[in-house]
Amino acid sequence: MQMPALRIPRPAFQRPSASTAKLHCELDDWWFDARYTDGACPICGWRPEGVSYAAPFWLQLVRRTDWELVSLLVTVVLLILLGIFVERTAGLSPNDIGRFLSGGG
Ligand SMILES: [Zn+2]
Repeated sequence: MQMPALRIPRPAFQRPSASTAKLHCELDDWWFDARYTDGACPICGWRPEGVSYAAPFWLQLVRRTDWELVSLLVTVVLLILLGIFVERTAGLSPNDIGRFLSGGG
């Protein structure tokens, strides 16, 4: 008895069209956009010689940003907001907190 073949739905794969920055790696039979990979094949690292591809402006900005500094600043702002929230919820004023921190009771 032969089992019926299962048809598994597969997501549609759209091969990028061969436009300006789209390169085809013959080794991997893979199309890729060289602007996002520094001009190299993401699988094997092959790159065409003598051609450079500039990344889009948003990608250059993302790569240049110091994300550790950004996350540090976001953490500081969140902690200040949390302090203000706790202060308001507890019914304290900034003077009460200042007196407590200076040991005045
Ligand atoms: Zn490749």
